[in-house]
Amino acid sequence: MPDGHVELNAEQPIGDLDSYEGALGGLKRRDFLQYCTGVAAALGLSPALGVRIANAAAASANRPAVIWLSGQACTGCVETLLRTSHPSLETLILSQISLEYCETLNAGCGHQAETWKTAAMRENWGKYVMVTDGAVPLKDNGVYCKVAGKTYLEQVKECAAGAAAILTMGSCASWGGWPSTGVNPTGAVGLGEVITDKPIVTIPGCPPNPYNFLSTVLHFVAFGTLPALDDKGRPKFAYGRLIHENCERRPHFDAGRFAMEFGDYGHRQGYCLFKLGCKGPETYANCPAVGFNDVGQGTWPVGTGHPCFGCTEEGVGFTKSIHELATLKSVAPPNHYPDVAAAKGTGASPGAVAAVAGITGAAIGAGAVIASRLGRQDRRDDSATPGA
Ligand code: SF4
Repeated sequence: MPDGHVELNAEQPIGDLDSYEGALGGLKRRDFLQYCTGVAAALGLSPALGVRIANAAAASANRPAVIWLSGQACTGCVETLLRTSHPSLETLILSQISLEYCETLNAGCGHQAETWKTAAMRENWGKYVMVTDGAVPLKDNGVYCKVAGKTYLEQVKECAAGAAAILTMGSCASWGGWPSTGVNPTGAVGLGEVITDKPIVTIPGCPPNPYNFLSTVLHFVAFGTLPALDDKGRPKFAYGRLIHENCERRPHFDAGRFAMEFGDYGHRQGYCLFKLGCKGPETYANCPAVGFNDVGQGTWPVGTGHPCFGCTEEGVGFTKSIHELATLKSVAPPNHYPDVAAAKGTGASPGAVAAVAGITGAAIGAGAVIASRLGRQDRRDDSATPGA
């Protein structure tokens, strides 16, 4: 972990950020600093290091070239990057990195795009970041996925040879995902089974959370290193905790209140979805704390009433049927969550909210989202009547 203390001061000059504002599509300097402070918190770093991240991100010379390859995928991993709006992530990500090639986002096409990719790789050999989404088919020499006359297998091997860092976006690229399940007719595998001589950062999910991707890239930009990873190559800041630990329905689990059928009284009241097959107890990810689409407020599967199906967890997502009960890795109630027996209207304690917010970072609003969500939950319980 980087050391050194940087005084956090919104008035402090931040590199050439003033000239950078135009490139950020109107994102204000203060908002950008606040955003980077949140990224630092999300990474488990001192929020004061947000200034260092802002400086690094604002220095155009530090923008890493990124080559993004897509294999057997549904395009959802790229789409998720485009569905964020606060701050304008698509603007931010195109400004903080130099995205040289991405089949979904390329302005050019055909020979023009391939020529550009080849030139970008040659020019940045040994320095670029390689990102992939989608599985790699191995069966029949990889003929089931070809781009520009080359198999995807050839494409990733060629690109990985000159990469300074490799990231897999989504479950398919990380461990095979849905193309690899069942009879696996194309012999689909994750990138790690093909590229074995370099470390790979995996950001699984279907789709993965774009903030986990951006935070990882920003860590690389700011410190020149990758964040701490778990034994599956996942950044610990995002995949260090079970979904079950931070789920807003956890008090109902601890109290033994479960939805038994979709649409029943418990389901309508927001009870725990464990008996509907929720895989949150054996799946590591920060979905409940961060949410999706930058809307917050329960925008994740369990928040909308659907059991987690474990998409970030190899051996669970796309593998265990939704009707199978999850394996409980821990039955102990979390330390920082409200007691379901607490007086109505008190909601989560400030300490509980701060603890969860500390995991995810204030700039992405998780603290406010969770506090608001829990407050709403109490009001909903107050007004609920059986059979309503
Ligand atoms: S089982 Fe699922 S719905 Fe229930 S508390 Fe755990 S993660 Fe939330």
